[in-house]
Amino acid sequence: MAEGARGGNFLADIIEADLAAGRNGGRVVTRFPPEPNGFLHIGHAKSILLNFGLARTYGGEAHLRFDDTNPTAEDSAYVEAIQRDVRWLGCDWGDHLHFASDVFDRMYACAERLVRDGKAYVDSQPVEAIREGRGSFERPGTPSPFRERLPEENLALLERMRAGELPDGACVLRARIDMAHPNVLLRDPLLYRIRHARHHRTGDLWCIYPMYDFAHPLEDAFEGITHSICTLEFESNRELYDWVLDNTGPWDPRPRQYEFARLALGYTVLSKRKLLQLVAEKRVSGWDDPRMPTLAGLRRRGVTPEALREFADLIGVAKNNSVVDIGKLEFAVRGDLEKRAPRAMAVLRPLPLIVESWPEGREVELALPWWPGEPGRGTRAVPFGRELLVERDDFALEPPPGWKRLAPGREVRLAGAYVVRCVGVERGAAGEVTAVRCTHEAGSAGEGGPRGLGAVHWVHAHRSTAVTVRLYDRLFRVERPDAEEDFLQALDPESLTVIGGARVEPALAEAAAGSHWQFLRQGYFFADPEDSRPGAPVFNRTLALKDPWSAKAVARSASTAVLTTGIAPGGHARSSTAESAAWTTGRPLEPHAPSSAAVSAALSTAPTTEPVTKAAPSPRPESLARLTRYRDELELSASEAELLGADEELSRFFEAALPSYPHPKPLARWLANDLLGLAKGVPLASLPLGAPAFGKFVALVESGRVTAASAKVLLAALVQRGGDPEALMAELGLARQEDPAALLAAVERALSAHAREAERYRAGEVKLFGVLLGAVMREAQGAADAASARRALEERLR
Ligand code: ATP
Ligand code: MG
Repeated sequence: MAEGARGGNFLADIIEADLAAGRNGGRVVTRFPPEPNGFLHIGHAKSILLNFGLARTYGGEAHLRFDDTNPTAEDSAYVEAIQRDVRWLGCDWGDHLHFASDVFDRMYACAERLVRDGKAYVDSQPVEAIREGRGSFERPGTPSPFRERLPEENLALLERMRAGELPDGACVLRARIDMAHPNVLLRDPLLYRIRHARHHRTGDLWCIYPMYDFAHPLEDAFEGITHSICTLEFESNRELYDWVLDNTGPWDPRPRQYEFARLALGYTVLSKRKLLQLVAEKRVSGWDDPRMPTLAGLRRRGVTPEALREFADLIGVAKNNSVVDIGKLEFAVRGDLEKRAPRAMAVLRPLPLIVESWPEGREVELALPWWPGEPGRGTRAVPFGRELLVERDDFALEPPPGWKRLAPGREVRLAGAYVVRCVGVERGAAGEVTAVRCTHEAGSAGEGGPRGLGAVHWVHAHRSTAVTVRLYDRLFRVERPDAEEDFLQALDPESLTVIGGARVEPALAEAAAGSHWQFLRQGYFFADPEDSRPGAPVFNRTLALKDPWSAKAVARSASTAVLTTGIAPGGHARSSTAESAAWTTGRPLEPHAPSSAAVSAALSTAPTTEPVTKAAPSPRPESLARLTRYRDELELSASEAELLGADEELSRFFEAALPSYPHPKPLARWLANDLLGLAKGVPLASLPLGAPAFGKFVALVESGRVTAASAKVLLAALVQRGGDPEALMAELGLARQEDPAALLAAVERALSAHAREAERYRAGEVKLFGVLLGAVMREAQGAADAASARRALEERLR
């Protein structure tokens, strides 16, 4: 099974089939081909882990190749940064570090060969004329007046281009393929352009540079790549990839291109252009700002390579694009840090606490475990005395109902130490509380307590150290900044809070740069590798603390699921926010409306920008039981189980639909991905579409009687009008056209239009199947789905 793709994936299947058939002499060679024009981001990590993982799994090799064919945007500083990041991910390219610029001469030789063979020509039209002449999807292209230049003339011109005799834009080298080709990319694509620019590696040696579509297949072929894996937007380039290789070969092995879905992640942008803009405009502190989705940024935030691998496994590799819930990344990071970050105490916004009953001048050292509940893993000494500091937010003069922290007359446990009772406060000139006075209960030292008291963290007032703590939040306020007119407008101005006067216990003051910690009750923190000094660490918050199964996570994933479809979160998603705070801290809040100040105090362990609009109901253990059952018994994905399990209303609807279609997974998928969005926040119970009808709808789709595209139309209609899914499907004409004769006719038309490819396919060029299948799909004009078209074509070619 492929690493970074636990549970296998379609690429692993392809490789296994190739190995089984003995293709490429049993070799598996993949590559990761970044262009050195920016830092790598988490999307690249997905591609790196996939390519290196597949090579490792199948005993092959993975190359790191710099696709440095565009001198103007590239820089050797990026070359260095990219290598560091790939290595950091744990990927090893061995001897296989390659640069496209090292093989410019071989590429040029291939271009000359194409020219000699009459398959490429120098076009002297201006770029606009070339673009215009290419036509469009509906309109075939028009041949360039230079298309019929003789090979000798072309060779001479190409040589002049290369020799620097012609200025930028004077002409280009184009492949001579087919100006009426149904795939616009094959209408005599550009192979070389003139660019008098200094290259970061070849200097002024070249003044013509190859285009991606020409360079990439050749780089693959030169390096002996067997499986060239790229993202989906290159699907239609594959025909050109094949053309280049077919006309410059033979190649052994002959590389094949495969596409997978690129990663898009909520609350961030993954376009190098936009990331560069954030850096260039100083919206962030640099490529490695801990809010950036770059590997350098994630590393500095305290995310480990192991967490990224876990994340890659979690999201898998698919062939359809979707936005991944950032909750999945946070889940993977939390799971990883949970195991590696020892616990210690830090007070971010200190409030003095005086233990009146503690003798002045008496100090003790408490031995507190690094890992509560696991004393075997060691302890550290934490000084305790009469003057302490606690979190300002852990004290309330007028506590809301259910408050389990400090307040006049109340008792709490100082974590790992004594139970104290608040007997008074000191006030400043403006009446503000400047200190809390307490008495302690002798003999109560330790953990927990018979009365189920809440615990608060603390540090010694004089034997703690002041440090800087940086609280990072998501960089953007919205899940899809890319969908905004101007993504910069969606930046969250409060994504970074710097706290100068935080106080930490002695052990934390000695934290080594690059060490991970859990600050008790607050979250995971990372001693900044750049800014920390011995004895003066600077801490970056990696993530606020949160039980991944808490209602908070659920509230977030519920609102995310709705937001994914571009619709504002419904009331049900919001109401659990305050509830989550209670779960996070293990203290129930009562179902009365607390003051908003109190609620924000209650939320202080997981600072959030989400507005709290509603009183918190007490936590419901039954939702936890439900989501565990959904995950473990019904085998729903973690995010679906969270979404459906935590919300009364959703889970009721889901369970009411199950009897009419007892397949939880597709039911949950349609509910989470589509129905919630279509409901636009209207409670499901008040939709015209009832749960049983929804079940029937999913049954119809899964039986293949409507295509996936029509299914969405049908569901939208059901949400609006209700009624019987099958009847509505018939009424709207959405039933799959089961017209085998039409499909067979489409197959015949496609085969006669591509007679040569069909012949070559029959002679053993199996990769042409895709070309033929594409032709069938085009001929069928969308009436056939890929699976039946594939079946019909296979049948016919047999
Ligand atoms: P651009 O081409 O706009 O500069 P890019 O992100 O595609 O940006 P490349 O350096 O070409 O940058 O990417 C290197 C490899 O990483 C390519 O194979 C690409 O398919 C892959 N890749 C890029 N972005 C993602 C993503 N979001 N998810 C998965 N793979 C990605
Ligand atoms: Mg790219």
